[in-house]
Amino acid sequence: MRMSKMYLRTLREVPAEAEIPSHILLLRAGMIRKLVSGVYGFMPLGKRVLQKIENIVREEMDKKGAQEILMSAIQPAELWQESGRWYEYGPEMWRLKDRNDREFCLGPTHEEVFTDIVRNEVDSYRQLPLNLYQIQTKYRDEQRPRFGLMRSREFIMKDAYSFDRDWEGLDKSYQEMYEAYETIFDRCGLEYRVVEADTGAMGGSDSHEFCALSEFGESEICYCEKCDMAATRERANCVDDPADSSEMLELETVKTPGKKTIAEVVEYLKLDEKQTIKALLFEVFDQEYKYVAAFIRGDRELNMTKLINALGIPEHAIQFADEDAMSKETGSVGGFTGPIGLRNCKIVVDSELVGAKNLCAGACLADHHMINVNYGRDYKADIVTDIKLIEEGDPCFKCGAAVKFARGIEVGQVFKLGTKYSESMHAYYKDENMNEKVIVMGCYGIGISRTLAAIVEQHHDENGIIWPISVAPYAVIITIVNIGDEVQNNLAEQLYQKLQSLGVEVLLDDRNERPGVKFKDADLIGIPIRVTVGKKAKDGIVEYKLRSSDEILEKSVDEAVESIISLIESKG
Ligand code: ATP
Ligand code: MG
Repeated sequence: MRMSKMYLRTLREVPAEAEIPSHILLLRAGMIRKLVSGVYGFMPLGKRVLQKIENIVREEMDKKGAQEILMSAIQPAELWQESGRWYEYGPEMWRLKDRNDREFCLGPTHEEVFTDIVRNEVDSYRQLPLNLYQIQTKYRDEQRPRFGLMRSREFIMKDAYSFDRDWEGLDKSYQEMYEAYETIFDRCGLEYRVVEADTGAMGGSDSHEFCALSEFGESEICYCEKCDMAATRERANCVDDPADSSEMLELETVKTPGKKTIAEVVEYLKLDEKQTIKALLFEVFDQEYKYVAAFIRGDRELNMTKLINALGIPEHAIQFADEDAMSKETGSVGGFTGPIGLRNCKIVVDSELVGAKNLCAGACLADHHMINVNYGRDYKADIVTDIKLIEEGDPCFKCGAAVKFARGIEVGQVFKLGTKYSESMHAYYKDENMNEKVIVMGCYGIGISRTLAAIVEQHHDENGIIWPISVAPYAVIITIVNIGDEVQNNLAEQLYQKLQSLGVEVLLDDRNERPGVKFKDADLIGIPIRVTVGKKAKDGIVEYKLRSSDEILEKSVDEAVESIISLIESKG
Protein backbone atom coordinates (compact mmCIF):
# COMPACT_ATOMS: atom_id res chain seq x y z
CA MET A 1 0.00 0.00 0.00
CA ARG A 2 1.26 3.45 -0.91
CA MET A 3 0.84 5.82 1.97
CA SER A 4 0.20 8.72 -0.40
CA LYS A 5 -3.07 6.94 -1.28
CA MET A 6 -3.94 5.49 2.10
CA TYR A 7 -6.86 6.76 4.15
CA LEU A 8 -4.93 7.62 7.29
CA ARG A 9 -5.15 10.58 9.56
CA THR A 10 -2.85 10.51 12.55
CA LEU A 11 -3.41 13.00 15.37
CA ARG A 12 -0.70 14.95 17.14
CA GLU A 13 -2.93 15.87 20.06
CA VAL A 14 -4.12 13.48 22.71
CA PRO A 15 -7.94 13.41 22.73
CA ALA A 16 -9.10 14.68 26.12
CA GLU A 17 -11.45 11.83 26.95
CA ALA A 18 -8.83 9.15 26.36
CA GLU A 19 -7.18 8.13 29.61
CA ILE A 20 -5.20 4.97 28.98
CA PRO A 21 -2.45 4.24 26.43
CA SER A 22 -4.45 1.92 24.16
CA HIS A 23 -7.31 4.39 23.85
CA ILE A 24 -4.99 7.36 23.26
CA LEU A 25 -2.74 5.56 20.78
CA LEU A 26 -5.47 3.86 18.77
CA LEU A 27 -7.14 7.24 18.27
CA ARG A 28 -3.87 9.06 17.58
CA ALA A 29 -2.71 6.39 15.14
CA GLY A 30 -5.95 6.77 13.19
CA MET A 31 -6.93 3.14 13.80
CA ILE A 32 -10.30 3.77 15.42
CA ARG A 33 -12.79 6.62 15.48
CA LYS A 34 -15.54 7.31 17.98
CA LEU A 35 -19.12 7.72 16.83
CA VAL A 36 -20.77 8.16 20.24
CA SER A 37 -19.88 7.05 23.75
CA GLY A 38 -18.83 3.40 23.67
CA VAL A 39 -19.31 3.05 19.93
CA TYR A 40 -16.28 2.97 17.65
CA GLY A 41 -15.47 2.42 14.01
CA PHE A 42 -12.32 0.86 12.62
CA MET A 43 -10.26 2.75 10.04
CA PRO A 44 -8.12 0.88 7.47
CA LEU A 45 -5.14 0.12 9.73
CA GLY A 46 -7.34 -0.81 12.69
CA LYS A 47 -9.50 -3.01 10.51
CA ARG A 48 -6.45 -4.90 9.32
CA VAL A 49 -5.33 -5.61 12.90
CA LEU A 50 -8.82 -6.72 13.80
CA GLN A 51 -8.80 -9.10 10.86
CA LYS A 52 -5.41 -10.50 11.91
CA ILE A 53 -6.71 -11.27 15.37
CA GLU A 54 -9.90 -12.76 13.95
CA ASN A 55 -7.89 -15.00 11.67
CA ILE A 56 -5.70 -16.27 14.50
CA VAL A 57 -8.87 -17.05 16.44
CA ARG A 58 -10.42 -18.76 13.40
CA GLU A 59 -7.36 -20.91 12.74
CA GLU A 60 -7.14 -22.14 16.32
CA MET A 61 -10.88 -22.74 16.63
CA ASP A 62 -10.94 -24.64 13.36
CA LYS A 63 -7.97 -26.75 14.47
CA LYS A 64 -10.07 -27.94 17.41
CA GLY A 65 -12.88 -28.94 15.08
CA ALA A 66 -15.16 -26.00 15.86
CA GLN A 67 -17.26 -24.78 12.92
CA GLU A 68 -17.92 -21.17 12.09
CA ILE A 69 -21.43 -19.88 11.51
CA LEU A 70 -22.87 -16.38 11.62
CA MET A 71 -26.06 -15.54 13.46
CA SER A 72 -27.94 -12.27 13.52
CA ALA A 73 -27.52 -9.52 16.07
CA ILE A 74 -31.30 -9.17 16.32
CA GLN A 75 -32.86 -11.73 18.62
CA PRO A 76 -36.53 -12.28 19.52
CA ALA A 77 -37.53 -11.74 23.17
CA GLU A 78 -39.31 -15.12 23.24
CA LEU A 79 -36.03 -17.05 23.29
CA TRP A 80 -34.82 -15.05 26.28
CA GLN A 81 -38.13 -15.50 28.04
CA GLU A 82 -37.76 -19.24 27.63
CA SER A 83 -34.38 -19.26 29.33
CA GLY A 84 -35.53 -16.77 31.96
CA ARG A 85 -32.92 -14.21 31.02
CA TRP A 86 -35.22 -11.56 29.51
CA TYR A 87 -35.66 -10.38 33.10
CA GLU A 88 -32.31 -11.51 34.49
CA TYR A 89 -30.16 -9.68 31.97
CA GLY A 90 -31.29 -6.27 33.14
CA PRO A 91 -30.56 -2.81 31.76
CA GLU A 92 -27.39 -3.80 29.89
CA MET A 93 -29.58 -5.33 27.20
CA TRP A 94 -30.53 -3.12 24.25
CA ARG A 95 -34.21 -3.81 23.75
CA LEU A 96 -36.31 -2.74 20.81
CA LYS A 97 -39.73 -3.28 19.26
CA ASP A 98 -40.74 -3.79 15.68
CA ARG A 99 -43.65 -1.96 14.04
CA ASN A 100 -46.08 -4.53 15.41
CA ASP A 101 -44.84 -4.07 18.96
CA ARG A 102 -43.04 -7.38 19.03
CA GLU A 103 -40.04 -7.28 21.36
CA PHE A 104 -36.46 -7.94 20.35
CA CYS A 105 -32.97 -7.31 21.64
CA LEU A 106 -29.61 -6.65 20.08
CA GLY A 107 -27.71 -9.73 21.23
CA PRO A 108 -25.34 -9.18 24.17
CA THR A 109 -24.43 -12.89 23.83
CA HIS A 110 -25.92 -15.88 21.99
CA GLU A 111 -26.54 -18.85 24.30
CA GLU A 112 -30.28 -18.83 23.56
CA VAL A 113 -29.88 -18.47 19.80
CA PHE A 114 -27.34 -21.27 19.50
CA THR A 115 -29.37 -23.53 21.78
CA ASP A 116 -32.40 -22.84 19.62
CA ILE A 117 -30.56 -23.75 16.42
CA VAL A 118 -29.24 -26.97 17.89
CA ARG A 119 -32.46 -28.12 19.55
CA ASN A 120 -34.25 -27.86 16.23
CA GLU A 121 -31.62 -29.66 14.21
CA VAL A 122 -29.87 -32.16 16.47
CA ASP A 123 -31.77 -35.22 17.57
CA SER A 124 -29.33 -38.10 17.65
CA TYR A 125 -26.19 -38.85 19.66
CA ARG A 126 -24.52 -39.33 16.29
CA GLN A 127 -24.58 -35.57 15.75
CA LEU A 128 -22.68 -34.90 18.98
CA PRO A 129 -20.27 -33.55 20.10
CA LEU A 130 -20.64 -30.29 18.24
CA ASN A 131 -18.89 -26.96 18.62
CA LEU A 132 -20.24 -23.94 16.75
CA TYR A 133 -18.77 -20.46 16.84
CA GLN A 134 -19.13 -17.06 15.27
CA ILE A 135 -17.23 -13.79 15.12
CA GLN A 136 -19.91 -11.17 15.43
CA THR A 137 -20.91 -7.81 16.81
CA LYS A 138 -22.36 -7.71 20.32
CA TYR A 139 -24.36 -4.99 22.03
CA ARG A 140 -24.32 -4.16 25.71
CA ASP A 141 -25.57 -0.89 27.08
CA GLU A 142 -22.76 -0.76 29.64
CA GLN A 143 -23.29 1.44 32.66
CA ARG A 144 -19.83 2.92 32.24
CA PRO A 145 -18.47 2.54 28.74
CA ARG A 146 -14.84 3.60 28.91
CA PHE A 147 -11.27 3.14 27.80
CA GLY A 148 -12.21 3.00 24.12
CA LEU A 149 -12.42 -0.55 22.82
CA MET A 150 -11.87 -1.96 26.29
CA ARG A 151 -15.42 -1.50 27.52
CA SER A 152 -17.61 -0.41 24.65
CA ARG A 153 -21.31 -0.72 23.98
CA GLU A 154 -20.85 -2.28 20.56
CA PHE A 155 -17.95 -4.70 20.30
CA ILE A 156 -16.74 -7.72 18.41
CA MET A 157 -16.74 -11.06 20.11
CA LYS A 158 -15.91 -14.58 19.12
CA ASP A 159 -18.43 -16.75 20.86
CA ALA A 160 -18.44 -20.53 20.72
CA TYR A 161 -20.88 -23.04 22.15
CA SER A 162 -20.17 -26.72 22.66
CA PHE A 163 -22.84 -29.41 22.77
CA ASP A 164 -22.00 -32.77 24.32
CA ARG A 165 -23.74 -35.97 25.31
CA ASP A 166 -22.61 -35.83 28.92
CA TRP A 167 -20.42 -34.04 31.46
CA GLU A 168 -17.38 -36.07 30.48
CA GLY A 169 -17.79 -34.85 26.95
CA LEU A 170 -18.11 -31.29 28.20
CA ASP A 171 -14.90 -31.64 30.24
CA LYS A 172 -13.12 -32.63 27.05
CA SER A 173 -14.62 -29.82 24.96
CA TYR A 174 -13.75 -27.34 27.71
CA GLN A 175 -10.16 -28.55 27.84
CA GLU A 176 -9.84 -28.22 24.05
CA MET A 177 -11.10 -24.64 24.15
CA TYR A 178 -8.83 -23.82 27.08
CA GLU A 179 -5.85 -25.02 25.05
CA ALA A 180 -7.00 -23.15 21.95
CA TYR A 181 -7.25 -19.96 24.01
CA GLU A 182 -3.70 -20.37 25.29
CA THR A 183 -2.42 -20.69 21.73
CA ILE A 184 -4.53 -17.75 20.54
CA PHE A 185 -3.31 -15.35 23.22
CA ASP A 186 0.28 -16.58 22.84
CA ARG A 187 0.10 -15.89 19.12
CA CYS A 188 -1.32 -12.43 19.81
CA GLY A 189 1.78 -11.69 21.86
CA LEU A 190 -0.09 -11.25 25.13
CA GLU A 191 1.24 -11.89 28.57
CA TYR A 192 -1.72 -13.28 30.47
CA ARG A 193 -2.84 -15.30 33.44
CA VAL A 194 -5.63 -17.85 33.49
CA VAL A 195 -7.73 -17.47 36.60
CA GLU A 196 -10.73 -19.21 38.09
CA ALA A 197 -13.78 -17.07 37.59
CA ASP A 198 -17.12 -16.59 39.21
CA THR A 199 -19.86 -18.63 37.60
CA GLY A 200 -22.60 -16.39 38.88
CA ALA A 201 -25.90 -17.06 40.55
CA MET A 202 -27.36 -18.39 37.33
CA GLY A 203 -25.97 -21.91 37.26
CA GLY A 204 -22.97 -23.39 35.51
CA SER A 205 -19.93 -24.87 37.20
CA ASP A 206 -16.31 -24.28 36.18
CA SER A 207 -15.18 -21.11 34.53
CA HIS A 208 -11.83 -19.52 33.74
CA GLU A 209 -10.97 -16.03 32.63
CA PHE A 210 -7.96 -15.24 30.47
CA CYS A 211 -6.58 -11.96 31.77
CA ALA A 212 -3.96 -9.94 29.91
CA LEU A 213 -1.80 -8.37 32.60
CA SER A 214 -2.09 -4.60 32.69
CA GLU A 215 -2.22 -1.92 35.34
CA PHE A 216 -5.35 -0.56 33.67
CA GLY A 217 -7.15 -3.88 33.66
CA GLU A 218 -10.53 -3.89 35.37
CA SER A 219 -10.16 -7.46 36.63
CA GLU A 220 -8.52 -7.88 40.00
CA ILE A 221 -6.52 -11.07 40.03
CA CYS A 222 -5.58 -12.90 43.17
CA TYR A 223 -2.88 -15.55 42.95
CA CYS A 224 -0.53 -17.61 45.03
CA GLU A 225 3.16 -18.09 44.30
CA LYS A 226 3.40 -21.22 46.46
CA CYS A 227 0.65 -23.20 44.75
CA ASP A 228 -1.36 -22.90 41.52
CA MET A 229 -4.25 -20.92 42.99
CA ALA A 230 -5.29 -18.06 40.71
CA ALA A 231 -8.75 -16.54 40.75
CA THR A 232 -10.52 -13.27 40.20
CA ARG A 233 -10.75 -11.33 43.43
CA GLU A 234 -14.53 -11.66 43.46
CA ARG A 235 -14.25 -15.41 43.11
CA ALA A 236 -11.37 -16.13 45.53
CA ASN A 237 -12.46 -17.99 48.64
CA CYS A 238 -11.42 -16.47 51.94
CA VAL A 239 -10.04 -18.36 54.91
CA ASP A 240 -11.95 -17.60 58.09
CA ASP A 241 -9.95 -16.73 61.18
CA PRO A 242 -9.96 -19.73 63.55
CA ALA A 243 -12.90 -19.90 65.96
CA ASP A 244 -12.40 -18.18 69.29
CA SER A 245 -12.70 -20.55 72.27
CA SER A 246 -13.39 -17.84 74.86
CA GLU A 247 -16.41 -18.01 77.13
CA MET A 248 -19.48 -16.12 76.00
CA LEU A 249 -19.94 -13.05 78.16
CA GLU A 250 -23.21 -11.43 79.11
CA LEU A 251 -24.90 -9.42 76.39
CA GLU A 252 -24.95 -5.71 77.23
CA THR A 253 -26.34 -2.58 75.62
CA VAL A 254 -23.98 0.38 75.84
CA LYS A 255 -24.30 4.05 74.94
CA THR A 256 -22.38 5.18 71.86
CA PRO A 257 -23.72 8.68 71.22
CA GLY A 258 -23.25 9.71 67.59
CA LYS A 259 -20.72 6.90 66.99
CA LYS A 260 -21.92 5.45 63.72
CA THR A 261 -18.91 4.15 61.86
CA ILE A 262 -16.72 1.21 62.84
CA ALA A 263 -13.80 3.61 63.28
CA GLU A 264 -15.79 5.83 65.67
CA VAL A 265 -17.10 2.91 67.67
CA VAL A 266 -13.74 1.20 68.13
CA GLU A 267 -12.18 4.44 69.27
CA TYR A 268 -14.97 5.20 71.69
CA LEU A 269 -15.20 1.71 73.18
CA LYS A 270 -11.45 0.98 72.91
CA LEU A 271 -11.93 -2.10 70.77
CA ASP A 272 -10.15 -3.68 67.84
CA GLU A 273 -12.00 -3.60 64.50
CA LYS A 274 -11.93 -7.39 64.59
CA GLN A 275 -14.18 -7.29 67.64
CA THR A 276 -16.98 -5.53 65.78
CA ILE A 277 -19.72 -6.44 63.33
CA LYS A 278 -20.29 -4.30 60.25
CA ALA A 279 -23.80 -4.04 58.79
CA LEU A 280 -24.56 -3.45 55.10
CA LEU A 281 -28.19 -2.85 54.19
CA PHE A 282 -29.79 -3.47 50.81
CA GLU A 283 -33.09 -3.24 49.05
CA VAL A 284 -33.91 -5.95 46.51
CA PHE A 285 -36.41 -5.97 43.67
CA ASP A 286 -38.89 -8.57 42.42
CA GLN A 287 -38.11 -11.06 45.19
CA GLU A 288 -40.24 -12.53 47.97
CA TYR A 289 -38.39 -10.34 50.46
CA LYS A 290 -37.61 -6.66 50.13
CA TYR A 291 -34.64 -6.03 52.39
CA VAL A 292 -31.30 -7.71 53.04
CA ALA A 293 -28.92 -7.08 55.92
CA ALA A 294 -25.41 -8.45 55.44
CA PHE A 295 -23.05 -8.74 58.39
CA ILE A 296 -19.28 -9.11 58.24
CA ARG A 297 -16.47 -8.54 60.71
CA GLY A 298 -15.65 -4.85 61.12
CA ASP A 299 -12.22 -5.07 59.50
CA ARG A 300 -13.52 -6.85 56.39
CA GLU A 301 -15.04 -5.59 53.14
CA LEU A 302 -18.15 -7.04 51.56
CA ASN A 303 -17.80 -9.07 48.35
CA MET A 304 -20.89 -8.06 46.40
CA THR A 305 -20.58 -10.96 43.94
CA LYS A 306 -20.59 -13.49 46.76
CA LEU A 307 -23.61 -11.81 48.34
CA ILE A 308 -25.54 -11.85 45.06
CA ASN A 309 -24.63 -15.50 44.53
CA ALA A 310 -25.73 -16.36 48.06
CA LEU A 311 -29.08 -14.69 47.45
CA GLY A 312 -29.41 -16.19 43.96
CA ILE A 313 -30.60 -12.93 42.42
CA PRO A 314 -29.41 -10.94 39.40
CA GLU A 315 -26.95 -8.09 39.89
CA HIS A 316 -29.48 -5.46 38.81
CA ALA A 317 -32.02 -6.59 41.43
CA ILE A 318 -30.16 -5.19 44.43
CA GLN A 319 -29.08 -1.74 45.59
CA PHE A 320 -28.13 0.00 48.83
CA ALA A 321 -31.24 0.57 50.92
CA ASP A 322 -32.82 3.89 51.60
CA GLU A 323 -32.22 4.02 55.36
CA ASP A 324 -35.48 5.74 56.34
CA ALA A 325 -37.69 3.45 54.28
CA MET A 326 -35.88 0.35 55.51
CA SER A 327 -36.00 1.52 59.11
CA LYS A 328 -39.81 1.66 59.15
CA GLU A 329 -40.19 -1.88 57.89
CA THR A 330 -37.28 -3.69 59.53
CA GLY A 331 -36.31 -1.79 62.66
CA SER A 332 -32.86 -0.90 61.34
CA VAL A 333 -31.38 2.34 62.65
CA GLY A 334 -28.90 4.21 60.46
CA GLY A 335 -25.41 3.73 61.88
CA PHE A 336 -26.68 1.58 64.74
CA THR A 337 -27.99 -1.50 62.94
CA GLY A 338 -27.00 -4.90 64.26
CA PRO A 339 -28.33 -8.41 63.77
CA ILE A 340 -30.37 -8.39 66.97
CA GLY A 341 -33.83 -6.87 66.69
CA LEU A 342 -34.19 -6.81 62.91
CA ARG A 343 -37.44 -8.03 61.36
CA ASN A 344 -38.88 -8.47 57.84
CA CYS A 345 -35.46 -8.76 56.38
CA LYS A 346 -33.19 -11.46 54.99
CA ILE A 347 -30.12 -11.78 57.20
CA VAL A 348 -26.87 -12.95 55.61
CA VAL A 349 -23.95 -13.51 57.95
CA ASP A 350 -20.37 -14.04 56.96
CA SER A 351 -19.13 -17.48 58.02
CA GLU A 352 -16.29 -15.95 60.01
CA LEU A 353 -18.71 -14.38 62.49
CA VAL A 354 -20.00 -17.78 63.58
CA GLY A 355 -16.81 -18.72 65.41
CA ALA A 356 -16.04 -15.22 66.70
CA LYS A 357 -16.92 -14.39 70.30
CA ASN A 358 -18.15 -11.36 72.22
CA LEU A 359 -18.39 -8.88 69.39
CA CYS A 360 -19.79 -5.38 69.30
CA ALA A 361 -22.73 -4.64 66.99
CA GLY A 362 -25.33 -1.94 66.50
CA ALA A 363 -28.25 -2.28 68.93
CA CYS A 364 -30.97 -1.23 66.45
CA LEU A 365 -31.45 1.65 68.85
CA ALA A 366 -30.21 5.16 68.17
CA ASP A 367 -26.90 6.00 69.92
CA HIS A 368 -26.49 2.47 71.27
CA HIS A 369 -24.42 -0.61 70.52
CA MET A 370 -24.41 -4.05 72.04
CA ILE A 371 -21.32 -5.80 73.29
CA ASN A 372 -20.66 -9.49 73.83
CA VAL A 373 -22.81 -10.39 70.84
CA ASN A 374 -22.49 -14.06 69.90
CA TYR A 375 -23.82 -15.96 66.92
CA GLY A 376 -26.26 -18.73 67.85
CA ARG A 377 -27.00 -17.44 71.33
CA ASP A 378 -28.01 -13.89 70.37
CA TYR A 379 -28.84 -13.95 66.70
CA LYS A 380 -29.27 -16.29 63.74
CA ALA A 381 -29.04 -15.88 60.01
CA ASP A 382 -31.07 -16.96 57.00
CA ILE A 383 -27.81 -17.61 55.18
CA VAL A 384 -24.32 -18.19 56.58
CA THR A 385 -21.58 -18.20 53.98
CA ASP A 386 -18.36 -16.51 52.89
CA ILE A 387 -19.36 -13.03 51.71
CA LYS A 388 -16.09 -11.21 52.33
CA LEU A 389 -13.56 -9.78 49.95
CA ILE A 390 -10.05 -11.18 49.98
CA GLU A 391 -7.20 -8.73 50.63
CA GLU A 392 -3.61 -8.93 49.42
CA GLY A 393 -1.60 -10.92 51.97
CA ASP A 394 -4.59 -12.93 53.22
CA PRO A 395 -3.98 -16.69 53.35
CA CYS A 396 -4.46 -18.70 50.16
CA PHE A 397 -7.43 -21.03 50.59
CA LYS A 398 -5.53 -23.88 48.95
CA CYS A 399 -2.17 -23.73 50.74
CA GLY A 400 -2.26 -20.95 53.32
CA ALA A 401 0.56 -18.83 51.84
CA ALA A 402 0.01 -15.07 51.53
CA VAL A 403 -1.83 -14.25 48.31
CA LYS A 404 -0.68 -11.62 45.81
CA PHE A 405 -2.71 -9.29 43.64
CA ALA A 406 -2.37 -8.21 40.02
CA ARG A 407 -4.59 -6.42 37.54
CA GLY A 408 -5.68 -7.79 34.20
CA ILE A 409 -7.88 -7.20 31.19
CA GLU A 410 -10.37 -10.03 30.72
CA VAL A 411 -9.82 -10.93 27.08
CA GLY A 412 -11.58 -14.29 27.16
CA GLN A 413 -13.70 -16.53 29.30
CA VAL A 414 -14.57 -20.21 29.13
CA PHE A 415 -17.57 -21.54 30.95
CA LYS A 416 -19.13 -24.92 31.70
CA LEU A 417 -22.81 -24.17 31.32
CA GLY A 418 -23.97 -27.71 31.90
CA THR A 419 -27.69 -28.11 31.28
CA LYS A 420 -28.93 -24.63 32.22
CA TYR A 421 -30.00 -23.70 28.70
CA SER A 422 -30.61 -27.16 27.29
CA GLU A 423 -33.03 -27.92 30.13
CA SER A 424 -34.94 -24.65 30.13
CA MET A 425 -35.08 -24.63 26.33
CA HIS A 426 -35.58 -28.37 25.85
CA ALA A 427 -32.50 -29.25 23.84
CA TYR A 428 -32.49 -33.05 23.91
CA TYR A 429 -31.00 -35.88 21.87
CA LYS A 430 -31.67 -39.59 21.65
CA ASP A 431 -28.94 -41.96 22.76
CA GLU A 432 -28.14 -45.44 21.33
CA ASN A 433 -31.14 -46.92 23.13
CA MET A 434 -33.48 -44.19 21.92
CA ASN A 435 -33.59 -42.71 25.42
CA GLU A 436 -34.07 -38.97 25.48
CA LYS A 437 -31.14 -37.16 27.13
CA VAL A 438 -30.38 -33.54 27.81
CA ILE A 439 -27.48 -31.93 25.93
CA VAL A 440 -24.59 -30.67 28.09
CA MET A 441 -23.23 -27.29 27.02
CA GLY A 442 -20.22 -25.03 27.33
CA CYS A 443 -19.64 -21.50 26.09
CA TYR A 444 -16.43 -19.74 25.20
CA GLY A 445 -15.97 -16.03 24.49
CA ILE A 446 -13.11 -13.88 23.28
CA GLY A 447 -13.42 -10.12 23.09
CA ILE A 448 -11.76 -9.54 19.73
CA SER A 449 -11.84 -5.74 19.89
CA ARG A 450 -10.85 -5.77 23.57
CA THR A 451 -7.94 -8.08 22.72
CA LEU A 452 -6.78 -5.52 20.18
CA ALA A 453 -6.73 -2.85 22.89
CA ALA A 454 -5.01 -5.22 25.35
CA ILE A 455 -2.23 -5.86 22.82
CA VAL A 456 -1.62 -2.10 22.59
CA GLU A 457 -1.57 -1.84 26.40
CA GLN A 458 1.26 -4.35 26.50
CA HIS A 459 3.08 -3.25 23.36
CA HIS A 460 3.76 0.46 23.18
CA ASP A 461 6.23 3.14 24.18
CA GLU A 462 6.09 6.94 24.41
CA ASN A 463 6.23 7.21 20.62
CA GLY A 464 3.38 4.89 19.76
CA ILE A 465 2.28 1.33 19.25
CA ILE A 466 4.71 -1.57 18.75
CA TRP A 467 2.63 -4.28 17.07
CA PRO A 468 3.76 -7.88 17.40
CA ILE A 469 4.34 -9.07 13.82
CA SER A 470 1.54 -11.64 14.14
CA VAL A 471 -1.14 -8.93 14.32
CA ALA A 472 0.59 -5.93 12.73
CA PRO A 473 -1.44 -4.16 10.02
CA TYR A 474 1.68 -4.28 7.83
CA ALA A 475 4.94 -6.02 8.64
CA VAL A 476 7.19 -3.48 6.92
CA ILE A 477 7.22 0.22 6.20
CA ILE A 478 9.60 1.56 3.56
CA THR A 479 10.35 5.21 4.21
CA ILE A 480 11.67 7.27 1.33
CA VAL A 481 13.70 10.12 2.81
CA ASN A 482 13.48 12.40 -0.24
CA ILE A 483 10.79 11.60 -2.77
CA GLY A 484 12.35 14.15 -5.13
CA ASP A 485 15.38 11.87 -5.45
CA GLU A 486 14.98 9.45 -8.33
CA VAL A 487 17.60 7.00 -7.08
CA GLN A 488 15.89 6.72 -3.70
CA ASN A 489 12.51 6.33 -5.36
CA ASN A 490 13.71 3.61 -7.67
CA LEU A 491 15.40 1.58 -4.97
CA ALA A 492 12.39 1.89 -2.67
CA GLU A 493 10.08 0.86 -5.51
CA GLN A 494 12.27 -2.13 -6.28
CA LEU A 495 12.19 -3.25 -2.63
CA TYR A 496 8.45 -2.62 -2.43
CA GLN A 497 7.77 -4.81 -5.47
CA LYS A 498 10.11 -7.52 -4.26
CA LEU A 499 8.48 -7.74 -0.83
CA GLN A 500 5.01 -7.76 -2.32
CA SER A 501 5.93 -10.55 -4.67
CA LEU A 502 7.06 -12.55 -1.62
CA GLY A 503 3.69 -12.00 0.03
CA VAL A 504 5.00 -9.55 2.63
CA GLU A 505 2.50 -6.91 3.76
CA VAL A 506 4.31 -3.68 3.13
CA LEU A 507 3.66 0.06 3.27
CA LEU A 508 5.57 2.47 1.06
CA ASP A 509 5.81 5.93 2.59
CA ASP A 510 5.95 7.91 -0.63
CA ARG A 511 4.33 11.00 0.85
CA ASN A 512 5.81 14.39 0.23
CA GLU A 513 6.65 14.96 3.89
CA ARG A 514 9.78 15.66 5.89
CA PRO A 515 11.58 12.48 7.03
CA GLY A 516 10.93 13.44 10.69
CA VAL A 517 7.19 13.41 10.10
CA LYS A 518 7.39 10.07 8.35
CA PHE A 519 9.45 8.48 11.12
CA LYS A 520 7.05 9.79 13.74
CA ASP A 521 4.05 8.34 11.92
CA ALA A 522 5.81 5.01 11.39
CA ASP A 523 6.52 4.83 15.12
CA LEU A 524 2.99 5.89 16.05
CA ILE A 525 1.23 3.30 13.88
CA GLY A 526 3.65 0.69 15.14
CA ILE A 527 4.87 -1.10 12.01
CA PRO A 528 7.37 -3.72 13.30
CA ILE A 529 10.08 -3.26 10.64
CA ARG A 530 11.15 0.03 9.09
CA VAL A 531 13.40 0.19 6.05
CA THR A 532 14.67 3.68 5.27
CA VAL A 533 15.83 4.50 1.77
CA GLY A 534 18.02 7.61 1.93
CA LYS A 535 21.38 8.98 0.81
CA LYS A 536 23.11 5.60 0.52
CA ALA A 537 20.54 4.42 -2.02
CA LYS A 538 23.07 5.19 -4.71
CA ASP A 539 25.25 2.38 -3.25
CA GLY A 540 22.26 0.06 -2.95
CA ILE A 541 22.29 0.43 0.85
CA VAL A 542 19.20 0.87 3.03
CA GLU A 543 18.69 1.26 6.79
CA TYR A 544 16.95 -1.56 8.63
CA LYS A 545 15.35 -0.87 11.98
CA LEU A 546 12.97 -2.73 14.22
CA ARG A 547 10.25 -0.70 15.95
CA SER A 548 11.10 -2.47 19.19
CA SER A 549 14.79 -1.50 19.13
CA ASP A 550 16.94 1.59 18.62
CA GLU A 551 19.55 -0.22 16.58
CA ILE A 552 19.86 0.84 12.95
CA LEU A 553 21.61 -1.58 10.59
CA GLU A 554 22.84 -0.83 7.08
CA LYS A 555 21.98 -3.59 4.66
CA SER A 556 21.87 -4.24 0.96
CA VAL A 557 18.37 -4.66 -0.44
CA ASP A 558 18.82 -8.43 -0.62
CA GLU A 559 20.06 -8.62 2.95
CA ALA A 560 17.12 -6.51 4.12
CA VAL A 561 14.69 -8.82 2.33
CA GLU A 562 16.32 -11.85 3.89
CA SER A 563 16.10 -10.38 7.41
CA ILE A 564 12.47 -9.46 6.89
CA ILE A 565 11.47 -12.90 5.67
CA SER A 566 13.26 -14.72 8.47
CA LEU A 567 11.73 -12.45 11.10
CA ILE A 568 8.22 -12.96 9.73
CA GLU A 569 8.72 -16.71 9.58
CA SER A 570 9.93 -16.90 13.16
CA LYS A 571 7.26 -14.63 14.69
CA GLY A 572 4.33 -14.68 12.28
P1 ATP B 1 -16.82 -7.93 31.83
O1 ATP B 1 -16.74 -8.66 33.14
O2 ATP B 1 -15.54 -7.26 31.45
O3 ATP B 1 -18.02 -7.05 31.71
P2 ATP B 1 -18.14 -10.18 30.81
O4 ATP B 1 -17.73 -11.20 31.79
O5 ATP B 1 -19.46 -9.57 30.92
O6 ATP B 1 -17.02 -9.03 30.74
P3 ATP B 1 -18.45 -12.15 28.73
O7 ATP B 1 -19.91 -12.18 28.75
O8 ATP B 1 -17.69 -13.28 29.32
O9 ATP B 1 -17.93 -10.76 29.34
O10 ATP B 1 -17.99 -11.87 27.23
C1 ATP B 1 -16.88 -12.53 26.61
C2 ATP B 1 -15.77 -11.56 26.28
O11 ATP B 1 -16.26 -10.40 25.60
C3 ATP B 1 -15.09 -11.00 27.51
O12 ATP B 1 -14.12 -11.89 27.97
C4 ATP B 1 -14.49 -9.71 26.98
O13 ATP B 1 -13.23 -9.96 26.40
C5 ATP B 1 -15.47 -9.27 25.91
N1 ATP B 1 -16.32 -8.17 26.39
C6 ATP B 1 -17.33 -8.23 27.26
N2 ATP B 1 -17.90 -7.03 27.44
C7 ATP B 1 -17.23 -6.17 26.64
C8 ATP B 1 -17.34 -4.78 26.36
N3 ATP B 1 -18.27 -4.03 26.94
N4 ATP B 1 -16.49 -4.23 25.46
C9 ATP B 1 -15.55 -4.98 24.86
N5 ATP B 1 -15.39 -6.28 25.08
C10 ATP B 1 -16.21 -6.89 25.96
MG1 MG C 1 -16.67 -12.68 31.74
